Amino acid sequence: MYVLVINAGSSSLKYQLFDMATEEVFAKGLCDRIAIDGILTHQTKGKEKYIKSIAMPNHSKAIEAVLKILCDKEFGCIDDLSQIIACGHRIVHGGEWLTQSVLVNDRVIEDLEKCRSIAPLHTGPHLMGLRGCMENMPTTPQVLVIDTAYHQSMPAHAYMYPIPYALYEKYKIRRYGFHGTSHRYVATKAIEYLGKPAEDTKIITCHLGNGSSISAILGGKVIDTSMGFTPLEGVIMGSRSGDIDPAIVPFIMEKENIPASEMGEWLNKKCGLLGVSGVSSDLRDIDAAIKAGNERAKLAFDILCYDIKKYIGAYTAALNGLDAIVFTAGIGENNVSVRYDSLKDLEFFGIKIDKEKNENFRSMSDPVDISTADSKVRIYVIPTNEELVIARDTMAIVSK
Ligand code: ADP
Repeated sequence: MYVLVINAGSSSLKYQLFDMATEEVFAKGLCDRIAIDGILTHQTKGKEKYIKSIAMPNHSKAIEAVLKILCDKEFGCIDDLSQIIACGHRIVHGGEWLTQSVLVNDRVIEDLEKCRSIAPLHTGPHLMGLRGCMENMPTTPQVLVIDTAYHQSMPAHAYMYPIPYALYEKYKIRRYGFHGTSHRYVATKAIEYLGKPAEDTKIITCHLGNGSSISAILGGKVIDTSMGFTPLEGVIMGSRSGDIDPAIVPFIMEKENIPASEMGEWLNKKCGLLGVSGVSSDLRDIDAAIKAGNERAKLAFDILCYDIKKYIGAYTAALNGLDAIVFTAGIGENNVSVRYDSLKDLEFFGIKIDKEKNENFRSMSDPVDISTADSKVRIYVIPTNEELVIARDTMAIVSK
């Protein structure tokens, strides 16, 4: 019993084949340069890696290539496509139309089409990936798992922006939040570790990667999250600004002669750690530059830690207390200094990070708790696994 998880972007498509009996990844790969030329990188567990140029004029041809290699005698792992019981698709933005994982039918496709209006860059490729699967596997159920869904429990005072209400009604401008599948996965684990009833738990989850978001989770339900209408809001990110005074935007457009059509790209690609440091959007490069004495790299790092600290303070207030903080994703799981600097000097909140455990936790067993014994708040490092959540949701929906 296999579930194929699909993450479709505009020119690339990642996939993982899960064996649902063991929840292990049996095979995974990447279709790259779709609609340009096409490269397939594939690996089945325990077998040699396969990399080949294959013409991929569209997403449907990319899926065709994936299914062919999955059934290949030498590099594949299944005998025929009937062994794939369903496909699960990662959907970045479901708007107010798609608010939970759902089995695809005509109405669901119509709802996904509506999301183009607020998330055109992601929705178009998602639809192409979905249609590619439907064309190549017409009888296989397709499930959508939506990144914004977990945040739908936010109360209106957290998701509404202070703009004319009519514009919310007209364009659906509101906070949606992102990385929901990741926040859900790590919060569920943290609740398990805390060992008290889910409804009594107060957790802050910090998903810190190239894109970063922080969520306040009360009784297992999100009450606030740092990303907003788009994944640009919140803490400073690799090359995204995060929170800035909105008046800066028209000011820069005028001074630098940047048209509105290019401003989104500017805010997403030229700002953040990259913009401040002038070094890189990757924190490993920033770390190396700090060691070499680069002061602007240090400034970018300090802004990140300060942003995280401010969100933790705000969300502790929103939650009226705190049981656990979770760190996850590339930076959260790997960067010792970010965890330490963003949590030090928070004893007032009962948050005490253990320096030694924070640096050496790789030898610890599950759960990884890097708080001191007398810390009132547990501090967990939990590797995220969004694909597993997608596979599980898909399995649960098709088993009904
Ligand atoms: P994305 O948001 O694209 O999924 P990731 O979650 O992989 O990104 O996070 C990328 C960030 O995490 C980069 O800033 C990178 O420096 C950092 N990172 C990723 N892996 C490691 C690692 N093994 N050690 C230190 N930093 C890492």
